[in-house]
Amino acid sequence: MSNPSIGRLELICGPMFSGKTTELIRRLEAAQFMQSVTLSFKPTFDTRYADQELVTHGGQRIRAVAAKNAADIVRNSGDAKVVGIDEAHFFGSELSSACSTLVAAGVRVIVVGLEFDHRGDVFEPFPSLLMRSDEIIRLVGVCTVCGGEAIHSQRMIPNTQRIAVGGIGDYEPRCGECFKPSRL
Ligand SMILES: [Zn+2]
Repeated sequence: MSNPSIGRLELICGPMFSGKTTELIRRLEAAQFMQSVTLSFKPTFDTRYADQELVTHGGQRIRAVAAKNAADIVRNSGDAKVVGIDEAHFFGSELSSACSTLVAAGVRVIVVGLEFDHRGDVFEPFPSLLMRSDEIIRLVGVCTVCGGEAIHSQRMIPNTQRIAVGGIGDYEPRCGECFKPSRL
């Protein structure tokens, strides 16, 4: 990071269990070490494991503010110089302009989320976020069928909702060949 006062958008995407939240926490902790004021957000309905914290599947955790929507993130960012946003796919297309507002205000924004839903369709904020990003990290998981590079999240439980919060057992990382798009 050359100059922490210059706004910047960093995007970390990949399937379930590819280490996205771990990478977000690593970046936030590094920023805190450099005395930057950091703040993390996550969607309110993500109540896995703990409220008001980002928690990795491995048990790492960092404090987070629950946000109802993208506007909530902008409203509650205060004087944070580094803003982390976990589970970005839940915030929908409005997230892209919210990130632009923060970047224009000199904030370093680190966005983490799934690019693809259980059907293999792209989640709305990502095409636009990809175009606006200063840095893009695409993490891959290990395909649970063939051991190849997983870019998809295979839903293992029946659920008709596009957005369903899942933990271990609910989703599996799959490569493009082993992924079977959910028809629900
Ligand atoms: Zn595979």
